[in-house]
Amino acid sequence: MTDNVAPKEDALVDKFGRRVDYVRLSVTDRCDFRCVYCMSEDMQFLPKPQVLTLEELYQLAASFVSLGVRKIRLTGGEPLVRRDVLWLIRQIGQLGCELVITSNGSQLSKMAPALREAGVSRINISLDSLNPERFKRLTRTGRLEQVLGGIDAALDAGFERLKLNAVVLKGRNDDEVLDLVDFARDRGLDISFIEEMPLGAITEHDRAEAYCSSDEVRALIEQRYPLQPTTERTAGPSRYYRMADSDSRIGFISPHSHNFCADCNRVRVTVEGRLLLCLGNEHSVDLREVMRRHPGDSERLRQTIIDAMDLKPERHWFDLDDEPQIVRFMNMTGG
Ligand code: SAM
Ligand code: SF4
Repeated sequence: MTDNVAPKEDALVDKFGRRVDYVRLSVTDRCDFRCVYCMSEDMQFLPKPQVLTLEELYQLAASFVSLGVRKIRLTGGEPLVRRDVLWLIRQIGQLGCELVITSNGSQLSKMAPALREAGVSRINISLDSLNPERFKRLTRTGRLEQVLGGIDAALDAGFERLKLNAVVLKGRNDDEVLDLVDFARDRGLDISFIEEMPLGAITEHDRAEAYCSSDEVRALIEQRYPLQPTTERTAGPSRYYRMADSDSRIGFISPHSHNFCADCNRVRVTVEGRLLLCLGNEHSVDLREVMRRHPGDSERLRQTIIDAMDLKPERHWFDLDDEPQIVRFMNMTGG
C-alpha cells in the first residue's frame, strides 16, 4: 500500500508561511444524531462508491504523516458509527502521530476501552445540554443518558484528557453554560464553547438571532468563576482559560469574534477525499481522484498534497447576515 519513506518535515508550508501539521479526517458523513446546527432533518447521505474506503483513508493518513503531519483527528459525521472503523483506528495508531477523535459520545459506552487500546490519546465529546428533553430537541434523535454513559466509560478507560464541546445558541442553551462548566469541573474535563458557524442552510433557528459570542459566554462564566487567560494551545483553534480552583480548562472557539486564521496549522479531508484547505472557503483538491486513477502511486499522492498547500487561503470570511457562503454542512466538512 503506502511505501515507508522518511518523513519530509516541513513539506507542508503554505504561501503565508503557515506550517500544516494537523489533519482532520472525516471518516463518514453519516450520524445517529441530527443536530439542528449541523444537519437538516432529512439529510441525504452519500452513496457508498463516493465515500473513501477504510484502506483509502489509511493511505491518506500515512501520506500526511510522511509529510510531517503530527496530529490526526478523526471526525465526521459520527466517526464511531462507521462499520469497522476500529480497523482504521488501529492502523493509524501505528503511524506514530497523535491520534484523537471528535465524537458525539453515543458509542463510547461500548467502544471506549478499544479506542484507548488502539492508540487514541484524546477524545472531544459534544454535549450541548444536560436537560434530556432539550438534548433531544437539539440533536433531534440523541439520548442524553447514552452520551453521559459514554463520557463515564471514556473516563474509566483512562484517556489523557477528555474535552467537551458545546455549541452555544441564544435562547436554546445559553442558560446552561454554568451547568456545563460545573459538569466539566466535577469530572476533571476540559470544555470548549463554540460559536455556531454558517455551514449549510438550516431552518430550525435564525443563525444571526441565535448567535452567542464567546465574549458573552465568558462573561456568563465569570459570574461564578473568574477566568485567567493562558497561552496553552492544543494545536486546535481553542483559546484557553483557567479557573483558580480547578484543573479543568475552559476553551473558546470563536470563528466570528476572534478570527483564528493567522496561525491556522490544519487542513481537512472530507469523506469523499476532498482536501479542504480552509473550513470557510471552497478551495479544495480531489485526492480520491488521484488515489483511484493512480492506485499505489504514493509519490503522486504526496506531491498532490504538497502542491495543494499553495491554495490555502489567508482567512475565512463568515458573515451571519448573508446567505451561507458555504453550502456544505458540517458533517460533510468534517467538524
Ligand atoms: N459527530 C461528532 C460530534 O458531534 O462531535 C463529530 C462531528 S461534529 C460535525 C464536530 C463538531 O462540530 C461538534 O462539536 C459539533 O457541535 C460542531 N458543529 C457542527 N455543526 C456546527 C456549526 N454549524 N457551527 C459550529 N459547530 C458545529
Ligand atoms: Fe452528528 Fe456531530 Fe453533526 Fe451532531 S454535530 S449531527 S452528532 S455529526
